[in-house]
Amino acid sequence: EGAYLINGKGERFMAAYAPSQMELAPRDITSRAIVTEVRAGRGIDGKDFVYLDLRHLGAEKIHTRLPFCWEEAHRHLGIDAVVDPIPVRPTVHYCMGGIPVTVDGQVLRDVQTRVEGLFAAGETACVSVHGANRLGSNSLLECIVFGRRTGAALVEAVRGRALPKVDEGSLLKQAASRIAGLLERSGKSRIDQVRRQFQDCMTEHCGVYRTESVLQEGIQTWQQIRQRYERDLHLDDRGKVWNTELIEALELDNLMTVGALILASALERRESRGSHAREDYPQRDDQRFLQHTLAAFREGSPQISYRPVVITRFPPQERKY
Ligand SMILES: Cc1cc2nc3c(=O)[nH]c(=O)nc-3n(C[C@H](O)[C@H](O)[C@H](O)COP(=O)(O)OP(=O)(O)OC[C@H]3O[C@@H](n4cnc5c(N)ncnc54)[C@H](O)[C@@H]3O)c2cc1C
Repeated sequence: EGAYLINGKGERFMAAYAPSQMELAPRDITSRAIVTEVRAGRGIDGKDFVYLDLRHLGAEKIHTRLPFCWEEAHRHLGIDAVVDPIPVRPTVHYCMGGIPVTVDGQVLRDVQTRVEGLFAAGETACVSVHGANRLGSNSLLECIVFGRRTGAALVEAVRGRALPKVDEGSLLKQAASRIAGLLERSGKSRIDQVRRQFQDCMTEHCGVYRTESVLQEGIQTWQQIRQRYERDLHLDDRGKVWNTELIEALELDNLMTVGALILASALERRESRGSHAREDYPQRDDQRFLQHTLAAFREGSPQISYRPVVITRFPPQERKY
C-alpha cells in the first residue's frame, strides 16, 4: 500500500537494493536488505530493527486498507501507526518446501514411489510450484488450486474401496508409550524454555544469511536442545484431559524434526538460491544444485538426497530489480 522502510539514518534504504521495486521487492530481498542495514550499524539507534513508516498514507487509508497492520502494532507495542513508525525485522512466516506431493496431492516417498493413501495440500505440502522463493499471495492461491485438486483426487482414491486393515492395537500402544514417556519425565526444563532455545537456534543459525560454520554450530546446538528435550523435560501438568502442555511438547517434538531437516538441507546446499542465502557460496550453482532436496528423518538423524527439477517453459534466470 506504499509504506516506506526507513533505516537509522532516516533513509529509504531499499533504493540501494531494489531501485525499481523499492519496498515491493520480494521478501527474501527485503529481508536481506534489512539485515544488511542492521549489520552495518544502520538499524534504528544502532539496534536490530528498522522502521516501517505508514504515516504519509494518512489515517483514513491506514484504517481502511491496513487495519490489521495498525492493530498488531497497537496491540504489541502500543504504537499508533498514524502518528509513529513501526519497528520491524525479518522473521519466518511461511515454510517453503514441505511434504513432496504430485499435482494431485498424493505424497511421494521418492522420485518414483507414491505413498499409498496419503495426501497433503496447503502449506504443509510441496507441489514445487514456488521455486526457492514463494512470491507474495501465492500460498493462498496454492491452497485453493491444489486443495481443490487434492480433494477431488481423494474422492477418487476412496471411491468403492474398503478401509485398509490397520493394526490399531500396536499403533495405540506406540502413541500411549510416547505420551507416557513425556508425562513421566522428571527433569528440570520447562517446555517454553526448550521451545525458546530451539527458536533462537533456528533464528541464529538458519536465518536470513547462512554459512558453513554457522550452520554446523546450529546442528550441534540442535543436538544439545534435543538431548535436553529427551532427558531433562518436566511437564507441570500430568493430567490426561485437556493437557495443553502435553500438546505443546508433542508439537515441539515435530517442530524439532522439521528444524533438523531444514538445517541439514541448508548445510548441504552450497549455493545461494531464492531465500537460501549462503554468504560462503553467494552464487546460484545450477550445475550442482538445480534439483530439489529430499530430506528424510531416519533413526534420529536427517538424510539428504535430491530429485531432478523438470524445466518446461521458463528456464531459471537471474533475478534483478
Ligand atoms: C503473518 C502471515 C501473513 C500471511 N500473509 C499471506 C498473504 O498475504 N497471502 C498469502 O497467500 N499467504 C499469506 N500467508 C501464508 C498463508 O496464510 C498460509 O500459507 C496458509 O494459511 C496455509 O494454510 P493451510 O490451510 O495450509 O495451513 P494452516 O492455515 O496452518 O492450517 C492448518 C490447520 O491444521 C491444524 N492442525 C495442526 N496440527 C493438527 C493436528 N495434529 N490435528 C488436527 N489439526 C491440526 C492447525 O490448527 C490449523 O488450523 C501468511 C502467513 C502469515 C503467518
